[in-house]
Formats: sequence, structure tokens, C-alpha cells
Amino acid sequence: SLELSKKAAAVKPSSTLAITAKAKELKAQGKDVVGFGAGEPDFNTPENICEAAIKAIKDGFTKYTPASGTNELKAAISKKFKEFNGLDYDTDQIVISNGGKHSLTNIFTALINPGDEVIIPAPFWLSYPEIVKLAGGVPVIVTTTKEQNFKLTAEALAAAVTDKTKALVLNTPNNPTGMLYTEEELRAIAKVAVEKDFYVVADEMYEMLVYGEQKHISIASLGKDIYDRTITCSGLAKSYAMTGWRIGYTGSSKEIAKMMGSVQSHQTSNPNSIAQKAAVEALTGPQDSVKKMHAEFDKRRKYMYKRICDMDLLDALEPMGAFYVFVDGSAVLGKSYKGTKIESVPQMADILINEYNTAIVPCADFGFPDCFRLSYAISIEQIEKGLDRIESFIKELA
Ligand code: PLP
Repeated sequence: SLELSKKAAAVKPSSTLAITAKAKELKAQGKDVVGFGAGEPDFNTPENICEAAIKAIKDGFTKYTPASGTNELKAAISKKFKEFNGLDYDTDQIVISNGGKHSLTNIFTALINPGDEVIIPAPFWLSYPEIVKLAGGVPVIVTTTKEQNFKLTAEALAAAVTDKTKALVLNTPNNPTGMLYTEEELRAIAKVAVEKDFYVVADEMYEMLVYGEQKHISIASLGKDIYDRTITCSGLAKSYAMTGWRIGYTGSSKEIAKMMGSVQSHQTSNPNSIAQKAAVEALTGPQDSVKKMHAEFDKRRKYMYKRICDMDLLDALEPMGAFYVFVDGSAVLGKSYKGTKIESVPQMADILINEYNTAIVPCADFGFPDCFRLSYAISIEQIEKGLDRIESFIKELA
């Protein structure tokens, strides 16, 4: 038979989506499943945002818009960049896409020539290497350490740079670790990017979900040289409980924005017109529901982190952003469960789903095979129940 695309064949299916699907399937069979896999807020999209979408439909705002998004939404995003991130992006530097994933696809399409390298610090969100490969690039994984709070250091970055390095992916707040980069760390990274001359893809999707004292900082806000080399990427999905609406956006140089707009104009045309109206309301309307969701996430975060710390064999760093706890399961490896030796985190995940109806996300596909991710984007009751089950499992180990 005729050979299919090597590039497409090299792409791995998303394992987080597979875990969510398995948990849903067991639920449909009537099992009392706790799913810690959720990569999305459990809240409904706030009412005012839904109303804006309904109004858009009734007003007939149901036609094509400009390919890179409406001027109205670009102006709202420009204002948000200014006020929230301290970043100046004019409307012609902004491209609105069908979700953050699509924005990232546009970015790498605009940056990469065949064989260009993209540095990705591990642990990483599992889609980065796949999107880079699809764009013809070569992911270069730089593994961080727990001692460095799973954050990339300027030294490790500099050591990974070659003459093929085109870009670095910098994700803060981080999925899966929940870590935030400090201004000092970002300045050191920016210095390397400027000196060695490569782009920084700053994925700030979780920027509004930051807890405690530490503030979210956009690397592009730290000076003109780094601003010129950064493409800042964010979206509405996580902050406004709008995962299904599919709105993401970028701020970049005009040149890159123009290229991404042209690419998008042929591949998908504009993002959904109705969702764009909803996004305007999300960004410019009342923010009280964001505050409420944030407060609820923070409560769950504290509870989950404490429970994990109190458990034998499990260990985690306190997450400062997003809605995940990144758990080190290495002390479980080598223990026995009912006579069977546990050799890997995926094996532990199988036991948890099959015997305890509890779904966790093993992080091999996030570049950290001995760790797993627990999402706290589920109710506190569910979190409590699921952690009780994990604790029972841990107590069974010999
Ligand atoms: N970036 C990170 C770090 C994410 O975790 C996600 C979603 O899981 C995205 C980007 C993409 O978000 P979306 O495509 O839903 O806007």
C-alpha cells in the first residue's frame, strides 16, 4: 500500500485524553470513579459570558470574521496584555486562534525550518514535542531537577544551545509542576536567549491561576531585547472555564503575527465568531466569577498538597499556579502490592484505576517517568475520596 505521512505517523496520541476517556468509560459502566486527570476547570462558563454568546447568535454575528480575529477582541486582548502582563502589543501584533494549542501550532509553523531545534525543559506539557515535530522541528529535551524546583536554569539552557537552536518553550505557571518562574530566573534565561539569539515561546496559559505571594511575570516584559524575541501565548480556556469555546491568542512582532495570520487564513480561517464575542465579554466584563473559581482552586490546592505530604512514600513540591500537583512516585517503585512488585508509575496507575477506581496521570509523556500528575479541577469531595483511596493503596504496599 502507499506510504502515509512519516511526520503524522511519528505523532503520539495524547495520553491524558486517553486516561480521561478510560475514566469516563468506567463511569458510564456505573463505577464510582474519581478522575484526577482533568485538564480543565470543572466550573461552567460564567453566565455573563454565555449570555454574550447567545446575544451574538441572535444578532446574527455568525459569519466569517477577519482570519486573525476581530478588531474588537484584539483591542480587548491588547488592553489585557497591557494591564495584566505589562506588555505593549498593538492589535496588529495579536493573532487570535482556535485555542492555545492552535496558537502554538501557528507559532512553530512560523518559526521552524526543517531540522531547527526547539529546547523544551522537562517536565513539559506533553503536546509541545509533538507540535514541534509536526512543524518539522526537533525537540531538544532538557531535564530539570527537583532541587531546582523543576525549573530550567540559565546554565542548563546555555549548555543545550547549538547552532540549530531556534527557540525555547517556557511555560509559567507550569503544567504539570505548578511552578512559577521568578523575575530573577526569567532575567537569567532572557539573557541567554538574547546573547545566543533564539526565540522564546512563552506559554502563559495559566497566568490567572496563581496562588500565594509569588506573582506571574511575563518574560517579554523584562526589556526590549527579550520582547523582540518572544512570542507570548495565552488563552481563555483555563482562566475563564472556556475550554470548549476554543479561543487562544498570541502577542508577537508584527512580522511574525502577519505570517501566523496568513497561515491561519488558509488552514482554519477565523476562530469561531460567537466564541470571539464571548471572549470580549470574558476579558472586559465583570471578573468576580474568575475570583470565585480562583478561591476554590486555592482551597483544593492547599488540601491536596497537605494530604500528599502527609502520605508515606509520596512527595511533592507546593504548586504555586495552574491546577495540578506533581507527585514524585519513585519511593513506591520496588514495593509490592498483594505480592506483585511495582516496577513503574504506569503500573501503579493501572492498579489505582482497576482496583481503586481512581485515575491519575503518569508523567512519562511529560518527560518524567517516575512522577504522576493529580488535577484539582474536581470538587473537594471528589479530591478527598480519591486521596483516601490512594492512601489505602499506599498502606497496602509492603
Ligand atoms: N498550554 C498548556 C500548558 C496547557 O496545559 C494547555 C491545555 O491543556 C494549553 C496550552 C492549550 O489550551 P487550549 O488549546 O485548550 O486553549
